[in-house]
Amino acid sequence: PPEQLPLDPTKKTLVVLGSGWGSVSLLKKLDTEDYNVVVISPRNFFLFTPLLPSCTTGTIEHRSIMEPLRHIIRHKKRAVKYYEAEATKIDVDRRVVKINDFSDVKGNVSETEVPFDYLVVGVGAENATFGIPGVRENACFLKEIGDAQQIRKKVMDCIETATFKDQTEEEKNRLLHMVVVGGGPTGIEFAAELQDFFEEDLRKWVPDIADRFKVTLVEALPNVLPMFSKALIDYTEKTFKDENITVRTKTMVKKVTDKNIEVEATQADGSKVKESIDYGLLVWATGNAVRGVVRDLMNQVPAQKNSRRGLAVNDYLVVDGTDGIWALGDCSATKYAPTAQVASQQGNFLARLFNSMAKTQAVEEELRALDAQLQAATDEAEKALLTAEINVKGRSLSKVKQLSPFQYSHQGSLAYIGADRAVADLNWFGGAISSATGGELTYLFWRSAYVSMVFSLRNRILVLTDWLKTKTFGRDVSRE
Ligand code: FAD
Ligand code: NAD
Repeated sequence: PPEQLPLDPTKKTLVVLGSGWGSVSLLKKLDTEDYNVVVISPRNFFLFTPLLPSCTTGTIEHRSIMEPLRHIIRHKKRAVKYYEAEATKIDVDRRVVKINDFSDVKGNVSETEVPFDYLVVGVGAENATFGIPGVRENACFLKEIGDAQQIRKKVMDCIETATFKDQTEEEKNRLLHMVVVGGGPTGIEFAAELQDFFEEDLRKWVPDIADRFKVTLVEALPNVLPMFSKALIDYTEKTFKDENITVRTKTMVKKVTDKNIEVEATQADGSKVKESIDYGLLVWATGNAVRGVVRDLMNQVPAQKNSRRGLAVNDYLVVDGTDGIWALGDCSATKYAPTAQVASQQGNFLARLFNSMAKTQAVEEELRALDAQLQAATDEAEKALLTAEINVKGRSLSKVKQLSPFQYSHQGSLAYIGADRAVADLNWFGGAISSATGGELTYLFWRSAYVSMVFSLRNRILVLTDWLKTKTFGRDVSRE
């Protein structure tokens, strides 16, 4: 049977799925006094994804960019329930979410249902592989903290194995070839961090690999970073060349095995050539795909039939074809790019929406009570007083009801490209002035921007300490 929550029966139950950029931004601004709030996520922490590429080489330690959800919800006025579980099905008709505890430690119950009045879906996206054979089995991804840890371990494993006694030349070259697929910001930032690791530390600590360690970035389109301006794309490609990172554009990966990738490269004359590239480490960063639980929800709602990239929502982020279900962030399909910036602004918007909905309901109840008093009143003076009060309340009701639709304000795009350089397309004063910069000053800006964004003071101190540690002692090259 579904678990009985310690609910306040006078309040609506708001279930929030996920603990990423969208859901956490909502939780931070939500007035939890107005609802029974239940959060469901398999991850009991918020992950600051912009600094995840820095964790793959140990420039930043992984725990520095994790913020425990328990810290976040502890500060709320009214208690929030948290279940560490995955939502496996959203039943639109029965208005329940089926949840499953897939963690290693199992209790008597690991599968149950949570009923909701209102539901916010913020489950993010999963890694796109486009069904290319061998990717899931052989490549590393870069989305979660475990991915970064796996990459860090594998880089060192490749290096130590390459220097194993009597290793053949060919095998050394393969093991020390680090291939990154996808020239979006994830692939670019990871390749940059890896090359930094090599130049600043590995070259010194493992001199045997100095002439062989190689990073290659493979991108299907004619250029990398399509969301940046032409000048910054050129600047990035030139910087990568200077850093000795090979960029292979117009090269599409078609198949992956445990030791090599098969690619189809488009030549200058338009002809296509097939090629096999050996690798030691393969990192796959080709963007987002829709999660199973979201796909299943879309299949239940006819209005979602034509949506491909995720849940189609209206201007108030209500999932098209549903009542009382909202979606935000990477699991929704809007005209905006799937970024943390968009997800967090949507989270803030939904917090305002829920706060104002609660206020509206409270005023509506007061109005109903006043109206009942007015009907019962016989004295003319009392009637006049009540009418005046109803008018004032009515005006304040129309004010709180006037919430304008979600509007995204783009602050700019920022990416680290290695060797203490970053690229930034920035919008100032709501887009009135925009600037495109690249270089070391931009890098300083990149660092300060991220430090001021990392949510808690604790995380800020941890990140700053990690940067200082890396500058002073170099990165740790031990394999965990
Ligand atoms: P997420 O932050 O991915 O959160 C999804 C949450 O849902 C997670 O807590 C997850 O555990 C949970 N979840 C998953 N499945 C279920 C389920 N079945 N039931 C319940 N919960 C579930 N964007 C920028 O704007 N700037 C950047 O610099 C930037 N850098 C990035 C670097 C990297 C390496 C990556 C991978 C992404 C980066 N992004 C950046 C993109 C940004 O991280 C995403 O757009 C953002 O995380 C989307 O937020 P979200 O809340 O929709 O999803
Ligand atoms: P992306 O979708 O931005 O880029 C993926 C790239 O992979 C594309 O350029 C695509 O052409 C390429 N690709 C796809 N299939 C391929 C194949 N078979 N062979 C070769 N190349 C192939 O993905 P991402 O970089 O993971 O970014 C995802 C989202 O997160 C984006 O919205 C991005 O803006 C955001 N993000 C932002 C930052 C930042 O602002 N610094 C950092 C990371 C991610």
